[in-house]
Amino acid sequence: MSENGYFSRFGGRYVAEILRRPLEELETAFAGAMADPAFVAELEELRADFIGRPTPFLYAENATRETGGARIYVKMEGLAHTGAHKINNAIGQALLARRMGKKRVIAETGAGQHGLATASACAKLGLECVVYMGEVDVRRQQPNVASMELYGARVVAVTSGSRVLKDAINEAMRDWASSFADTHYLIGSALGPAPFPDIVRTFQSVIGTETAEQIRARGLDVEALVACVGGGSNAIGFFSPFTTLSSPRLIGAEAGGVGPGVGENAVRMTGTAASDGILQGYKSRFLVDADGQVAETRSISAGLDYPGIGPELAALGESGRIEFTSVPDAAALEALAFFARTEGVLFALESAHAGAAALEVARRAPKDKAVIVNMSGRGDKDIFITSPVFRPEEWRRFLRAELERLESGVDIHVFGGSR
Ligand SMILES: *Cc1c(COP(=O)(O)O)cnc(C)c1O
Repeated sequence: MSENGYFSRFGGRYVAEILRRPLEELETAFAGAMADPAFVAELEELRADFIGRPTPFLYAENATRETGGARIYVKMEGLAHTGAHKINNAIGQALLARRMGKKRVIAETGAGQHGLATASACAKLGLECVVYMGEVDVRRQQPNVASMELYGARVVAVTSGSRVLKDAINEAMRDWASSFADTHYLIGSALGPAPFPDIVRTFQSVIGTETAEQIRARGLDVEALVACVGGGSNAIGFFSPFTTLSSPRLIGAEAGGVGPGVGENAVRMTGTAASDGILQGYKSRFLVDADGQVAETRSISAGLDYPGIGPELAALGESGRIEFTSVPDAAALEALAFFARTEGVLFALESAHAGAAALEVARRAPKDKAVIVNMSGRGDKDIFITSPVFRPEEWRRFLRAELERLESGVDIHVFGGSR
């Protein structure tokens, strides 16, 4: 847990005066909920029956043989409902919101994965859901927008600023400042003003708790745990039972993008472009450009394409407990293809960064050790990004044919006959 909202010098609660009260209310309600056996029991039931927990723990035997080093295991978090770890946090916070008597939940989303998880959780728990999304992202991420709407959420296209994630966050903050009496702001990663980093880590720590149990059941001697790091929620949840121990090694994989230059990646913890800053209510390491402005970032994986990092990870990185490494787009794609071919498992692009880093570590470690990679999501969602890379011509032909089919009017049935 943080101390007064801080992890060493990172974290805090840098918000407008009006938001101090709802954040304090949230902190008190969260502590009360986690101490209430009835809340915990309901959360456990949703984890089992709605999310599908515990998620499996796969011995990647073929991948291990080809790599020739330590035994590789995959925590199959991508088999969670809605395809990634984000649902762990969404269902936890939605349950907390309902307990607090809130009727409405707002969220921000970039690529749409957090919006999707939030919309699904709100549908299940009977909460109204509004998702703020930059207009640019709405246009790029139509499949996720469509799913959110099916779950009954209202997706608001944000037209201010550069019309992407940071603008969606500003808009959600603005909404919350005037609506907190009946509205919960469901933040999607282990960042933002206190107590959000503690809340998100707590709900995501189910990944690490299960992993610790799965390690024990198999009697493994673990060399390292490896996770990808965007805002940092899957990593801190996966690492959480181990951060106060001196082993195993904990390794965070950041997006190396297309190169080391400013704007070419999203490397905050290695590299030289990050510095201390305060953004979106918390103090951490942020990527900045020559003018001291928040820099553009770049990654093939939307989930790692973010200029900041959760404050607890920043602190644990500086203390040396968590090691960071960066993985370029090309290496992530290679690892994605490798695990698909050897194990029949399709990693999300984000998770494939961790997969690539895990292969590196396993290669150099003794055969009697284990390296465990958190597959934070499954790759089905990335078909629009991976297909143009792996099969550009076939994909172009497919899209053209789909468009022609739609425009010819064949096979289109009007839903309910009323539209
Ligand atoms: C959103 C996302 C991430 C990055 O978010 P964190 O908060 O860093 O975990 C990683 N993997 C997948 C599959 C995601 O959807």
